[in-house]
Amino acid sequence: MPVTPEQQAEIETLREVSRPTRRAVSDGMEEHLYKAHEVLDHGFIRVIDYMGDDAAICQAARVSYGRGTKSVQNDEGLIRYLMRHWHSTPFEMCEVKFHVKLPVFVARQWIRHRTANVNEYSARYSILDREFYIPAPDALAAQSTVNNQGRGEVLEGDEADRVLEMLNSDATRAYDHYEEMLSQDGQKGLARELARMNLPANVYTQWYWKVDLHNLFHFLRLRADSHAQMEIRVYAELMCQIVKDWVPLAYGAFEDYRLGGEQFSAAGMACLKRMLAGEEVTFETSGMSKGEWREFEAALK
Ligand SMILES: Cc1cc2nc3c(=O)[nH]c(=O)nc-3n(C[C@H](O)[C@H](O)[C@H](O)COP(=O)(O)OP(=O)(O)OC[C@H]3O[C@@H](n4cnc5c(N)ncnc54)[C@H](O)[C@@H]3O)c2cc1C
Repeated sequence: MPVTPEQQAEIETLREVSRPTRRAVSDGMEEHLYKAHEVLDHGFIRVIDYMGDDAAICQAARVSYGRGTKSVQNDEGLIRYLMRHWHSTPFEMCEVKFHVKLPVFVARQWIRHRTANVNEYSARYSILDREFYIPAPDALAAQSTVNNQGRGEVLEGDEADRVLEMLNSDATRAYDHYEEMLSQDGQKGLARELARMNLPANVYTQWYWKVDLHNLFHFLRLRADSHAQMEIRVYAELMCQIVKDWVPLAYGAFEDYRLGGEQFSAAGMACLKRMLAGEEVTFETSGMSKGEWREFEAALK
């Protein structure tokens, strides 16, 4: 269960309170505040706090005394200009704090993004819940034959059943031993900081993750991408929806220039110009490596 009824009641209580403020407020983000959006089988993402909105980006870019807004059209043009020309600091003026519940193996990928502030649930201090990520049948796939860092066909029949059985029974056994080692019933009980080392990488952890919008866009570009592992991608995709509601103009520019846009090398640009001039360019005449040519072709499809 991603959140217990007691935790849900706490969230509802928080959402019932609102106060007038002089701070910049995003109506879209107010809708998300505190709510738990479910991800995977036991995970979630919640927005705990945020600072700034689309106007705050323009305000910073113009170093304005007022709200910085000229008109929505004008703001959109400025935000798109900033994104197009890789101006990062105005986007750093917006911040967001998430509460994320995620499997440990996903957290290992996530924590590589060093430009955020993190505070994780302490398994030295507290006992972890008996919650493990078990892939849904359509996510239980074989090793990809074309991509060493990916998965291919979905497992079926006996093999799928056996894998699921192993995942479930190993996790259950490890957690049973965790509890047994911690127990102080007739024994001293092993320290939590030691007993936890027996738990598998699919056990869930939780953290608060605070990041500015510029670095969040960087995270989303890498982790909402098709090359990212599905289990982290689903978190990133949900965050994309939240960011879209928070700063629709900035997200629109990000979607256009970063998610939907492409970058070409000098060799790629030269090929593009030859193609536009009517020449049929092939791998052999492109001057690119095999990998570069494959990615170049994929970008044009
Ligand atoms: C599909 C995919 C596959 C991956 N595979 C692997 C893998 O096999 N093995 C592996 O180890 N990692 C892997 N990674 C992780 C990847 O190499 C990065 O560590 C991760 O994406 C974080 O990126 P980042 O450093 O740009 O982000 P952040 O840490 O958020 O940094 C953002 C930017 O800030 C700057 N910056 C931050 N810290 C420093 C610093 N100390 N010095 C200089 N500049 C800094 C850099 O410009 C950086 O791009 C993979 C990532 C992806 C998306």
